Amino acid sequence: MEMEKIVSLCKRRGFIFPSSEIYGGINGCWDYGPLGVALKNNIKRFWWRSMVQLRDDIEGIDASIIMHPRVWEASGHVQQFADPMVDCKDCKLRFRADDLEGESCPSCGGELTEARMFNLMFRTHVGSVEDEAAVAYLRPETAQGIYVNFQNVIKPSRQKVPFGIAQIGKAFRNEITPRNFIFRTREFEQMEMQYFVKPGTDGEWFEYWKEERLRWYDVLGIKKGKLKLHEHRDKELAHYAKEAFDIQYEFPFGVKELEGIHNRTDYDLSRHREFSGKDLSYYDQETNERYIPYIIETSAGVDRTLLCCLVDAYREEEVKGEKRVVMGLSPAIAPKLAGIFPLVKRDGMPEIAKRIDELLKPHFDVFYDAGGSVGRRYRRQDEAGTPFGITVDSQTLKDETVTVRDRDTMEQVRVGIDDLVEWLREKISS
Ligand code: ATP
Repeated sequence: MEMEKIVSLCKRRGFIFPSSEIYGGINGCWDYGPLGVALKNNIKRFWWRSMVQLRDDIEGIDASIIMHPRVWEASGHVQQFADPMVDCKDCKLRFRADDLEGESCPSCGGELTEARMFNLMFRTHVGSVEDEAAVAYLRPETAQGIYVNFQNVIKPSRQKVPFGIAQIGKAFRNEITPRNFIFRTREFEQMEMQYFVKPGTDGEWFEYWKEERLRWYDVLGIKKGKLKLHEHRDKELAHYAKEAFDIQYEFPFGVKELEGIHNRTDYDLSRHREFSGKDLSYYDQETNERYIPYIIETSAGVDRTLLCCLVDAYREEEVKGEKRVVMGLSPAIAPKLAGIFPLVKRDGMPEIAKRIDELLKPHFDVFYDAGGSVGRRYRRQDEAGTPFGITVDSQTLKDETVTVRDRDTMEQVRVGIDDLVEWLREKISS
């Protein structure tokens, strides 16, 4: 399957558009439309529910995007968050040298410049004076907002190690070559969780989180065969990591990282202790010991997960000689759970359909559609990934039941209007 089909469906159906499109767009930035933002919110909610709401050992926070510039010195980003950049002397295109390993310039075969390190952090100035003292950065990861708040969270929440802090938020990286639609962008969102553990137990927790996170994609409905695990070898490991695993997905443009799971040791808290002069150790009352916790991090991209859901859900089918495009998104994250359709615009059917719309709205994201033949409305429903189509027909006028069509099987069942909320609720939870 080609990416163009996904990109064009996203544009046509209002999932995702190029940012500032009327001005020609801006590289590495995308906007989410009505269906896109609903899908994105649902994915974030799905993550938050499993990582925070359903657990007693993880607390949520929402830290600021602009932080004290010393944070990024302590974290190592000012020194080390850079990619090697090369230019082609002939075609003038710019590349990440590690993308080209073992290859010459892919398009023209021209000679490349020496690699130079390019820091990926966006710089800005805070306040009205634009001098070096006012330099600040847009955060390139959400994790640091968690580390610097370790003591702020542990006290009011009365958590004890092992426990975690989770955050969803925007991050910014001035990527040398943003590409593959929303896979690599300059502005994106992360869903990160940092789990603080006693040194010596980090190996077990690392294994635990690997399993948990893989399971999450399974529950999300991602096809098992498409997910891969990739262990980082010594030379791939980031400066802070003792062990690292990527959860990867087989995208049309290659097997690529969705999420990183890292054993960051006591690197982050030790560095922040050193740079801030504040005590970031933990006192374990049970064992009467004081130590700097080790951290197991799970770091996923919202946009990459969303792209993975779209790619994984997309299929084309022939039904009775007619082609249909279906986004088989799980009911747990589909932008709209159901479409509500009066079969015809008379005999009181639109009024009943509107009544059903009002009945379902407080519980679920649904939409009313009276435009075109019911077949066309079903096709639109399929492309938008809406799992159920609820049709008010002549039978409804007699017995207050409706036809519910399943997007995937196209089977139709009759459900009483009064039972609809319960019926749909069961479908989301199953
Ligand atoms: P890559 O090697 O692809 O640049 P990374 O290893 O630097 O990624 P991390 O720093 O581990 O990525 O970031 C954690 C997660 O954040 C990634 O798994 C990905 O889902 C997401 N992410 C990172 N960079 C981007 C980006 N430029 N665009 C979209 N998502 C991103």
